[in-house]
Amino acid sequence: EKLCNQIAAGEVVERPASVIKELLENSLDAESLEIRIEVERGGKRLIRVMDDGTGMSQDDAFLSLERHATSKIQSESDLFRLGTLGFRGEALPSIASVSRLTLSTRSMQSEEGWEIYTEGGTVKRAGAVGIPAGTSIEVRDLFFNTPARRKFLRRDETEIGHIADVVTKLALAHPEVQFRLVHNGRPLLEVNRHGNLAERVAAILGRPLLKDLIELRQEGPEGLCLSGYLSRPDANRSGTGSIYTYINGRFIRDRVVQHALMDGYRNLLLKGRYPIVVLFLSLDPELVDVNVHPTKHEVRFRDQRLVHDFIANSVRDALRPSGW
Ligand code: ADP
Ligand code: MG
Repeated sequence: EKLCNQIAAGEVVERPASVIKELLENSLDAESLEIRIEVERGGKRLIRVMDDGTGMSQDDAFLSLERHATSKIQSESDLFRLGTLGFRGEALPSIASVSRLTLSTRSMQSEEGWEIYTEGGTVKRAGAVGIPAGTSIEVRDLFFNTPARRKFLRRDETEIGHIADVVTKLALAHPEVQFRLVHNGRPLLEVNRHGNLAERVAAILGRPLLKDLIELRQEGPEGLCLSGYLSRPDANRSGTGSIYTYINGRFIRDRVVQHALMDGYRNLLLKGRYPIVVLFLSLDPELVDVNVHPTKHEVRFRDQRLVHDFIANSVRDALRPSGW
């Protein structure tokens, strides 16, 4: 059982950023509106994610640390079918098996919270605590008991870069949620709740961008739907572009989608300019297969042509408003 968790940890937990991704997805699943992330030494010493979500009962708190006890997902193909981000009930046990983890949680209905401290997956202490409703998970000394894996962790700057990347991707997809990321006591990323994607995009990718964003909202054949923002191709910006694409709410970097976007921008971009794109594609889960590996961002569309042309045409139309 413990070994099993450590092996699973190899798949789910690659580095501090993958721990944070799992913890944030759980906080989002729990309908949190404010999420605070504290990190020390690139996450190698400490990762703490605090949310104001639904919290857990005492029983659920213990269950959440047991492998497969809680899976919200019965089969891999459910991954896109369900609204939740949870993978298969193995993230928390996996993380716990390779760290010193403290789970503190209180549901709105309970008078008091519950705190469980585990080392390498073994429960060492547990007891009632007075805390606000929500959940806090603290992960110390990641890979302390798997030195071979600890050796593969990079410099603090590299690890915090990966962490900021994970937080950015999730924050762009959840403008209704406040995120704060603090590294070694210094705020690194802070976005308030806007409930407005354009504001969130500008808050994260650059204030001046706000006036150069074009909204896209397009319905297509077979229930395809595309929405989000594109930078004007003639925007007077320098620097590199950024492309964030999501399929049914999950960040995906896909060859077909990428190609379709550039097709849409073709002949419109000024030389040396790169677009900024934040786009959400939603489609019937039957029309897409997801790579079953929990940390991969890969998909395969049943009908590539259909998806490609829908995206390329939608982008082209959005970039050529009546004034052009
Ligand atoms: P999964 O997300 O696939 O269910 P996890 O191991 O990530 O598996 O989490 C196990 C369970 O613990 C979740 O299903 C959820 O019920 C509970 N849980 C974890 N984190 C939180 C949180 N931040 N708030 C409320 N419940 C949580
Ligand atoms: Mg999860």
